[in-house]
Amino acid sequence: MLHVLLFRVFYETFFIKSLPLQDYYLENMKIEFLGATESVTGSKHLLITEQGKQILLDCGLYQGLGKETEGLNRELGLDATNVDAVLLSHAHIDHSGNLPLLVKQGFRGKIYCTEATFDVCSILLLDSAHIHEGDVSFINSKRKKKGLPPIKPIYSVKDAERCLKYFKPLPFNTDFQLNEEISFYFSENGHIIGSAAINITAHEKGKTTKLTYTGDIGRYTDPLLKAPAVFQQADYIICESTYGKRLHDSQTDSEAKVLQCVQKTCVDKKGKLIIPAFSLGRTQEVLYILDKLTNKGLLPKIKIFVDSPLSKKATHVVSLHPESFNEELKAYLKEDPEPFAFQNLKYVEDAEESKSLNDLHEPCIIISASGMCDAGRVKHHIANSISNPSATILLTGYCAPGTLGAALLNGDNRVHIYGDFFDVKADVESVLSLSAHADYEGMIRYLSCQDKTRVKTIFLVHGEADAKTAFREHLLEFGFTQVLIPEKGETFEIGS
Ligand SMILES: [Zn+2]
Repeated sequence: MLHVLLFRVFYETFFIKSLPLQDYYLENMKIEFLGATESVTGSKHLLITEQGKQILLDCGLYQGLGKETEGLNRELGLDATNVDAVLLSHAHIDHSGNLPLLVKQGFRGKIYCTEATFDVCSILLLDSAHIHEGDVSFINSKRKKKGLPPIKPIYSVKDAERCLKYFKPLPFNTDFQLNEEISFYFSENGHIIGSAAINITAHEKGKTTKLTYTGDIGRYTDPLLKAPAVFQQADYIICESTYGKRLHDSQTDSEAKVLQCVQKTCVDKKGKLIIPAFSLGRTQEVLYILDKLTNKGLLPKIKIFVDSPLSKKATHVVSLHPESFNEELKAYLKEDPEPFAFQNLKYVEDAEESKSLNDLHEPCIIISASGMCDAGRVKHHIANSISNPSATILLTGYCAPGTLGAALLNGDNRVHIYGDFFDVKADVESVLSLSAHADYEGMIRYLSCQDKTRVKTIFLVHGEADAKTAFREHLLEFGFTQVLIPEKGETFEIGS
């Protein structure tokens, strides 16, 4: 710091103060943590360079925090007009979902991401805007009855469309010179299609600082995607910690489990198999399993529905990016170029057609969103089948506490759907090994490409408090020397 102080004394003594001080007084680069510090949503980290350039890593929405959520999302915690660029790790809404508000508030730089992330954002951001508009019109109809003025959505479909014009897709593993101080490249992290770790190199005052933001880290055994890749030796790492204290069950054979559920439900009991699944990722994994079972001649000849317009679009986008597929799936493509399409599969887009499936009295499989059963069309399918002993609900992923999916996983005898109580008489099964996040062993394996003595600090984000604390202990045990858990709004100097 001495040279900085001397420079300041020199500056203050000899220079006419007609230019702002910050133009001359260079400080170390900083990182400010603006989101995903107390929970797993709302990712937003601001890098401020020595020359005062502001680079935002992700701009996600908070989700599932009850009444607080709305307020947290309306307040970005920064001046959007001062942000020079956004580097986006992946398209999940908790990482990308507040970009339309950033643009609405005056951001005019570029949003850099991978090509697949741009394609996925093109559908997810519009879907998110539709949800906000729908929620607000529902709230406004209630406010009107109370004589209250209407409120506006956080952002509209138009805002989301406008935001997409600022995207600049880049290929993986290719250096991009953002400005004279900063270059970066995206590396595969195996979480969802297009997802990336962001590897930044800063050249400032004759020294070089390397910072990697892991984004969300995927699994080494993902059914569709390439495993997470090694990344540059970093001085600083911002690392997710969702499963910082958890190990996945690696023993579950998803294909066998799905086949067993189909056999028991659709063949033995002639019932409906309802599979709640997120539109992006899980739906394609389930379709790939069913495609393999079809090719092996193991599926009975029954109707299979994907009842979600978003799932149809997401499946199309995933199929456009085979460059991200793992070796097994690439080899499979040579035998079957359409791994998510097979006989008897039908996409349902129309809402009336979706409802009409309730009157279908024959064995079938219905894959529908959302995966946690807290929203979307899957709710009416569950309401329709939950009290029928011949039906099965097959849950495919983590369900947050308080959701219908969590109640079902918990073995509740009665559940609450659309204001009514239903007795649970259907079978409830799960195939939870299909997680998009690495467990703590997977995350440590991902970080093991680093020379631990050269990593000055790992900052943990994107995890519940107990997961972060546990993961910090694992990392220190593994040999990293400094692991910090930043709080919201905290700023750290890096590059000194
Ligand atoms: Zn994610």
